Amino acid sequence: MAMDITKTTLSEVREAVTGKEVSAVEMTQAYLDRIAKYDGKINAYRETYDERALERAKLVDEGKIEGPLAGVPIAIKDLMCTEYGKTCCSSKMLAKFEAFYNSTAVKRLEDAGAIVLGKTNMDEFAMGSSTETCAFGATKNPWDTDYVPGGSSGGAAAAMAADFCAGSLGSDTGGSIRQPASLCGVTGLKPTYGRVSRWGLVAFASSLDQIGPFGHSVKDCATLLKYMGGHDELDSTSANIAIPEDLDDVDTKPKKLRIGIAKQYMSDEANDPAVASALVKAIEIYKAAGAEIVEVDLPHTEYGIPVYYIVATAEASSNLARYDGVHYGHRTQTPDDLVDLYARSRAEGFGDEVKRRIMLGTYALSSGYYDAYYNRSLKVRRLISNDFKTAFESCDAILCPTTTGPAFKLGEKKDDPLSMYLNDIYTVTANLAGIPGISMPAGTAEVDGKQMPIGMQLLGPAFEETSLLRIARIYEAATDYNLERPKM
Ligand code: GLN
Repeated sequence: MAMDITKTTLSEVREAVTGKEVSAVEMTQAYLDRIAKYDGKINAYRETYDERALERAKLVDEGKIEGPLAGVPIAIKDLMCTEYGKTCCSSKMLAKFEAFYNSTAVKRLEDAGAIVLGKTNMDEFAMGSSTETCAFGATKNPWDTDYVPGGSSGGAAAAMAADFCAGSLGSDTGGSIRQPASLCGVTGLKPTYGRVSRWGLVAFASSLDQIGPFGHSVKDCATLLKYMGGHDELDSTSANIAIPEDLDDVDTKPKKLRIGIAKQYMSDEANDPAVASALVKAIEIYKAAGAEIVEVDLPHTEYGIPVYYIVATAEASSNLARYDGVHYGHRTQTPDDLVDLYARSRAEGFGDEVKRRIMLGTYALSSGYYDAYYNRSLKVRRLISNDFKTAFESCDAILCPTTTGPAFKLGEKKDDPLSMYLNDIYTVTANLAGIPGISMPAGTAEVDGKQMPIGMQLLGPAFEETSLLRIARIYEAATDYNLERPKM
């Protein structure tokens, strides 16, 4: 093949196929070969659809499938329903689940000509930050397989880093796109809540969940969002706001360039020195581009984790009630009676982390505790959201870390849920406020004598993705960290 897929972006793959430099079949086969060769050590995919993907690629080559993404091979997270294959949420509970419809985001990308290679591994029901809670084995970080890829969309991020796809889709409830993007050295965008339809996305916490793209560039994320986003009458929470035509025009200068820095995100105690110096460098880059740097205050940041872990678990306990072995999911074999059937089906089907969340959420919603925990969390959630509204009166994007440092070792935090939860400190507030955030590669940090990727985050006002992406592109253009790839 005329092209090395380990050095490309989605835009280049797209141009190569539409310009007939490479056929769609060759392109798809190249990714499938690479998956077959290397995914044994990474475990990024839960399943691949080789035959279907090649059939669709053939139709692209014959001109029977057309569209702006014709022949572009992508991967989707294992919680987006498709009428082909299985949708398991990396859980035993849904190990046999075959959906009979396509989620809107995936359908729109396929309608635009994209080719789905397979479904990627994740933390069970998207609950986790390391892709270790999945029922079918952990995903490893392609930069070093002793380390986690982050989570919950760890498979999607690892597939991107390992060049097992040209673009991929994840979901972000509290950081599940941005955190793994950061730890795997790829770009990940969490759009505004309501930007991308949640139809066909298996629900974790419905007021926080949002589908978004991974890519090797800001432009690639913009392209995927452009074709999958926008209003969908099948999801009443999808916003009736059109995707701007020029969303993927990321090289245009943003109209305004005021970069906000919040002291709450700049703790020298919390942040790895490499993260701190990456931020200093980013500030210099923005200054050189003519930005005004403004100090902003996000005083309720410290409540982000407790509020998130009440709201998210409360919603999860309600959403996951449907998996009882009757309506949905794994059913136990020889139950004594109906109550035993429910209890045993759930005990067998769910893993420990999911059970922990269901119990936490059920507790927070129980009468007597509802006001003390759930209701109070909603009030603080509003305060967090107001912090951002005020901050965006004086800036156009907030620059901050995605995570405090690089990837941790597999197993390191697995049995310490609190330390795992604290890992989400810089990402959960964007979900609570419903605003968009992007994580971009920002160089590396040293762990155990090795260099591992770190990321940097930009947060923007709701529905201002066009401006956010243009601001992000300024940093990317000045650094090119996004083009670095792990040695496999
Ligand atoms: N790590 C967070 C959690 O465990 C976020 C997960 C997500 O965004 N799906 O809940």
